[in-house]
Amino acid sequence: MSISQNISSIKQALPQNITLVAVSKTKHNTAILEAYETGHRDFGENYVQELVDKQAQLPKDINWHFIGHLQSNKVKYIAQFVHLIHGVDSFNLLKEIDKQAQKNNRIINCLLQIFIAKEETKFGFDFKEAEQILLGEEIKSLKNVAIKGFMGMASNSSDTGQVEGEFNLLYEFQQKMLRHLTHLTILSTGMSGDYDLAVKNGSNMVRIGSKIFGERV
Ligand SMILES: *Cc1c(COP(=O)(O)O)cnc(C)c1O
Repeated sequence: MSISQNISSIKQALPQNITLVAVSKTKHNTAILEAYETGHRDFGENYVQELVDKQAQLPKDINWHFIGHLQSNKVKYIAQFVHLIHGVDSFNLLKEIDKQAQKNNRIINCLLQIFIAKEETKFGFDFKEAEQILLGEEIKSLKNVAIKGFMGMASNSSDTGQVEGEFNLLYEFQQKMLRHLTHLTILSTGMSGDYDLAVKNGSNMVRIGSKIFGERV
């Protein structure tokens, strides 16, 4: 199947309220343009330099999602154009995003990344830390960031019960936070291997790479 067929069939099968982010990391501009030609506009990238290059070369109406681990000293390179930063995993990073957003006279949309997997290697806040930040005083001074919700990655496991449980815990946390803060409406969970489980457990934004563009080498 071609990229355009993959993207159409995934979109057709997804419920209407779910945003598909096509994860194009390591893929060439020609592949991205094939997806773009179907009308798709939301693309996700993991590496700052690669994103900067692609943004310069590709159509300007693409919504670029930064989904990787972002180092504070690199925020300045993407602050001018980034649509949504999914992986905010420290308050210092949030402060730097605010500073760079202010310099560019814009408000940058962010998701707090929450650690939900069993693995040691995945980044993110735990629920308590995220709650403290969201309900704390310090965040009120950050006028140029808009926290829109949460992002999480489940364990890389064939145990679907485990994976669903992790997605659901994050969904429950979002519901709890929504009682205080009604703008936290985005839940970015699910990738090629587990997005069906994420969708069953409250996801409204899925990040799909290999199922659209083929395996990365
Ligand atoms: C690479 C990546 C994806 C997409 O992974 P696939 O398995 O290829 O769909 C989604 N989210 C994050 C954070 C990623 O790094």
